[in-house]
Amino acid sequence: MLSKITGLVRPVIALIVACIACNPAPGQEASSHAQPGTQWTVEQIQQAVAPMRAGRRLKPQTWPKGAKVAVCLTWDMDNDSWLLATGNTEPVVLSANEYGAREGLRRILQLYDRYEIPATFFVPAVTGILYPEVISELKRRPQHEIGIHGWIHENLPKINNRAEESRLLQQTIEFWTKALGRKPVGYRAPDWAFSAYTLDLLREAGFEYDSSAMAMDEPYELVSHNHPTGLVELPVNFGLDDVSMEPPNWEPPELAFKEFQDEFDQAYQEGTFFMLTMHPMITGHRSHLIYLDHLIAYMKAKPGVWFATAQQVADYVRPAASERNAASKRQH
Ligand SMILES: [Zn+2]
Repeated sequence: MLSKITGLVRPVIALIVACIACNPAPGQEASSHAQPGTQWTVEQIQQAVAPMRAGRRLKPQTWPKGAKVAVCLTWDMDNDSWLLATGNTEPVVLSANEYGAREGLRRILQLYDRYEIPATFFVPAVTGILYPEVISELKRRPQHEIGIHGWIHENLPKINNRAEESRLLQQTIEFWTKALGRKPVGYRAPDWAFSAYTLDLLREAGFEYDSSAMAMDEPYELVSHNHPTGLVELPVNFGLDDVSMEPPNWEPPELAFKEFQDEFDQAYQEGTFFMLTMHPMITGHRSHLIYLDHLIAYMKAKPGVWFATAQQVADYVRPAASERNAASKRQH
């Protein structure tokens, strides 16, 4: 999701989300009123939330081979793309993010090799361009998945333009299709931020799943303007992201990973889903990765834990086309 050497952390993220929610309703001019929503009609409120809502829960009766819980240990390979998107070219600041490719990735791949588990890496196209070794290293390990994470980690609500967002998305799909020899099926929005157009663009582009929203703890179907999209949401969570260990919060890794383990324990009890978002330039550091090593060992010691790529989970929970059509008819 984010790399924040200059320090965007959870409270700020929550503020960003709150600000996105403060956008004027479609067709309404921005107001200087501090709380424009107080002036909206019921119809405007319904319009405001319509671009993306949570639909059906997609938790299966059982996970593959009778597993109790599905686990996705995912990485957002931002590196310095998000800084370049804002025009920040300060070399030392870039270098702290370059770390993800130069050091973090190697360690992470070794760790996953040792435990024989798969990962999903959401990679901005510009990361692939600046660090082609990221692509070659991941292609050498086909058990891992690459998903789309923007062209240059652009913030879509800030673009707020359907044509421009569509241009960047198509350019990104073309890059990865050429680099991988196949079109990625998964998407995670940079900054976990959708515009009012994003979901429809993803549906039109034929994505199978998204992993940016957080309406539930378990997989669910995304709904656009009251229409089920067939797109699976594999939800993320502010509490399941390693950015809290970045400045200025500097949450100690033992506390961050304790929270991750508590979330896993509850997901295991519920028989649901555990999605962790990490960044190679954060958790790829030696003092952080050791805690991920401990967490994976803890999970591995329990029976019935299915380690999967996001695509594997989406494929498993995605309703068949016939079921989607029936649900769509029931809705109208
Ligand atoms: Zn990111």
